[in-house]
Amino acid sequence: MRQRQKGGERIFFFYPFPLLDNLIAKSSKVRKSTQPLPCSRGAVTKKSCVTVMNTRKVYIETYGCQMNLADTELLVGLLKPHGYEPTKTAQTADVILLNTCAIREHAEERVLGRLGELVHHKARHPGVRLGLTGCMAQHHRDRLLDKAPYLDLVVGPDAYRTLPALLAQDDKDEPLVSVRLDRDETYADITPVRGEGIRAWVTVMRGCDKFCTFCIVPYVRGRERSVPLTALLDQVRVLADQGYKEVVYLGQTVNAYRDGEYNFADLLRRTAKIDEIERIRFTSPHPADMSEHVIEVMATCTKIAPYLHLPLQSGSNKILERMERGYTVEYYAALVERLRSAIPGLALSTDIIVGFPGEEGADFQATYDFVAAVRYDSAFMFKYSAREGTKAYKWNETLSEDEKGQRLQTIITLQERISAEINRQTIGQTMEVLVEGPAKRPEGWLSGKTRQFKTAVFPGAGAQPGDLVSVRVASTTAHTLIGEVSA
Ligand code: SAM
Ligand code: SF4
Repeated sequence: MRQRQKGGERIFFFYPFPLLDNLIAKSSKVRKSTQPLPCSRGAVTKKSCVTVMNTRKVYIETYGCQMNLADTELLVGLLKPHGYEPTKTAQTADVILLNTCAIREHAEERVLGRLGELVHHKARHPGVRLGLTGCMAQHHRDRLLDKAPYLDLVVGPDAYRTLPALLAQDDKDEPLVSVRLDRDETYADITPVRGEGIRAWVTVMRGCDKFCTFCIVPYVRGRERSVPLTALLDQVRVLADQGYKEVVYLGQTVNAYRDGEYNFADLLRRTAKIDEIERIRFTSPHPADMSEHVIEVMATCTKIAPYLHLPLQSGSNKILERMERGYTVEYYAALVERLRSAIPGLALSTDIIVGFPGEEGADFQATYDFVAAVRYDSAFMFKYSAREGTKAYKWNETLSEDEKGQRLQTIITLQERISAEINRQTIGQTMEVLVEGPAKRPEGWLSGKTRQFKTAVFPGAGAQPGDLVSVRVASTTAHTLIGEVSA
């Protein structure tokens, strides 16, 4: 199951793995080799470097954002050479991993609920290894074992390389915890195992140095570091050969990318030269890191989608300062103006947090007015969730859950109206759509994305995934353009 819901909870993926059938097919050829694999970092022992070509099945459930999905692809890439094949269900797995998110409490509660289900499965199948990976593993570390003592493994985002070695350990009685943060780990040499499709997600940098007062990311993903540009371009060339048409560069502050020699504008410019790649997108850029060079590249390279997710968080300078976001409302508004004048047809989306400690009625009104003035194409809107370990965690919350909920609903209603209005303006226009596959409905229709990253559905008319087709928009909803294929 895969869910995407706007408002309240951002993107919540809860699923074995995207297009798992394809993935299983891709990874079913287990490398037959008795050669030792390159030694891993961290806690990996010499013993673990010997390849044991078992054929064990691993089931990974991913929670949270796109970066976690990319990490799941990385985990499969790491485990595959050690003889692990992905499987579609927990019931058929030897190893069950929950790849987790710690951004909001709600995400963690869902994982704990799921563990409560899986413990029964484990009791019936004592040979099964159950592990928690990712941000929640890093956030709670050893304490997790008080809540879930039946866990066999707890592995943080910088310690994925230790997984094969941990799984190879014979002694299953003691839970194994591997949560060392590593300032240098980029996994640049690991090839993720991706699902088939036309879009590939590529992590270009890990960690974050910004330390916004509400955010757990720098504590669970460590400090900012970038994958070398040459390694990224090599990866994208391979993706192009494999038939991917779109790359999406990922990073918590993706536009802060710098590998010591090249910056993010260089990366975009060089990627645009790879012929078979039709579209390039990236997420999430930080407003304070949005350089004139990046704007210039976006404005001049037609392959770079005219779409930007530019998190605002709040429209009140008082709250932005308390959040330590590093910009003011005036700076952000001027940036939007600059972007819109440089990049015709630019679509914008954002993130908003309501109910941050100290947010008064006037601050919320300022956010409301700002959102109304900017007129984003879409937005992800959240209630503030206090995260232990962050600076804001120590501050008293000034709103109840109900009050936060009311503010959230108010701003969602505003944004839904604006999204619907903006989409309605496209009726009668012809859009270039990159075809992804069958639409959920109506039957026989196809679905794809416009250059502005809007979902378009339209009658099939023989188009294939990966084709660029012209679609005339006949009608719209707040989230979808409904079209017909132009002659
Ligand atoms: N790095 C991006 C940026 O700086 O804008 C955002 C990445 S963060 C993983 C995704 C979004 O989660 C944030 O933009 C913010 O709106 C939301 N978020 C992060 N911490 C939160 C918290 N404690 N409570 C509610 N929402 C939160
Ligand atoms: Fe979190 Fe701020 Fe870093 Fe974004 S920039 S990941 S919100 S600390």
